Amino acid sequence: MKTVKFGGTSLASAEMMKHCADILKSDDARRYVIVSAPGKRFDGDIKVTDLLYRIYSEVLNDYDPEPTLMVIYQRFSEIIEGLGIEFDLDKEFDEIRSKLSPDLNPNWLASRGEYLNAKIFAAYLGWPFIDAKDLIIFKENHILSHHLTYKVAGEVLSDFSHAVIPGFYGADTHGEITTFTRGGSDVTGAVIARSVKASLYENWTDVSGVMTADPRIIDNPKQVKWISYRELRELSYMGASVLHEDAILPIRSSGIPIQIRNTMDPDAEGTMIVSRYPFDMNKHPVTGIAGKKGFSNLQIEMALMNTQVGFGARVLEIIAENGISYEHTPTSIDIISVIAETRYFEKCRSKIIMEIDREFHPDKLFIEDGMALVTVVGEGISTNVGVAAKVLQIISNAGINVRMIDAGCSELNIIIGINETDYEKTIKALYDGLHEYF
Ligand code: ASP
Repeated sequence: MKTVKFGGTSLASAEMMKHCADILKSDDARRYVIVSAPGKRFDGDIKVTDLLYRIYSEVLNDYDPEPTLMVIYQRFSEIIEGLGIEFDLDKEFDEIRSKLSPDLNPNWLASRGEYLNAKIFAAYLGWPFIDAKDLIIFKENHILSHHLTYKVAGEVLSDFSHAVIPGFYGADTHGEITTFTRGGSDVTGAVIARSVKASLYENWTDVSGVMTADPRIIDNPKQVKWISYRELRELSYMGASVLHEDAILPIRSSGIPIQIRNTMDPDAEGTMIVSRYPFDMNKHPVTGIAGKKGFSNLQIEMALMNTQVGFGARVLEIIAENGISYEHTPTSIDIISVIAETRYFEKCRSKIIMEIDREFHPDKLFIEDGMALVTVVGEGISTNVGVAAKVLQIISNAGINVRMIDAGCSELNIIIGINETDYEKTIKALYDGLHEYF
């Protein structure tokens, strides 16, 4: 049995919805479907969720929200008309209107895109609509109550052979609507897949899967056919986004694979995301390349640093006290570097320098911006000789200066720090040079 999630572009119009219904009905195993709010139909179009957030800010700032509300009404009424179904949209909008006040729970308002789209899609399919507020349970601060949710959702859904469920939200233990962060319908899909013990979670979106490199830099990059959860996490952390990062946790331990599929190309096999590769699979050493700009290097140099027990710990304490989440701490005998996103240093740059200077009187101390990190990811890196050498050779042949190398013990990836100005050039050189490893 499969749990299926359709993203906002997949359900942006009546025509798209009909197409998704055909996809659903072409496989009897597709029984629980998670629905996003209508997304963009064309460049420049506005997602319904964005319009709902706009209404909330209009209400707060004492602007008339009615014109924006009518844009949403119009979108849904076009969908209803295009599907040729009976649906009392006026009643739904009267309810929304009656609740518009500055004390309104913004999550409730933001969730109405998913709520209405799921109700409409359920009416079209003739499947039961099950409200996510009765399935997905949050603790405080938008934190999902995992085990309670799996239990409750599993029990409720066991009474239904098929169901349409709105994505993106649930309710806290007082029944107040709470949402995941943006793009959170992916998480709903994973949570439902786990709750109903699905054998596969199909995530239908507007791309054919995970790419081996960023298509904004590499023309038509190769697609990844299989990827492990760990590899995906490394690639998405560095900017390759096809799936909400919280979507992996609910199903990781239960081993349910996620398949990314393209709604506009349903015959394409997409990308299969798995906890472990099939044992007989001939896995290529490298799965993908990703990267991000905007890093800084805080560097401390001090003679005999290596003899001072607790030096590094104290530096990291200062980093933590200043609210900085760091990425890497490469060290040599008398030098320690802390690599973190530049945005973290924006407010505390001089404060940190002062604190470290006061405490250690180092020989040299500076924060240097303008670093980009590029990561080459692959479970196969650890078992194939020469991948790291090849990566460095490619970079040096391209005349790019390496500012940092971090390969960690897991050998799941090799991370290279370079100047931001070399970022695109590095990705291109690696993509071309590593082609035999993909
Ligand atoms: N509609 C929500 C958003 O735009 C959730 C989602 O589509 O996954 O973020």
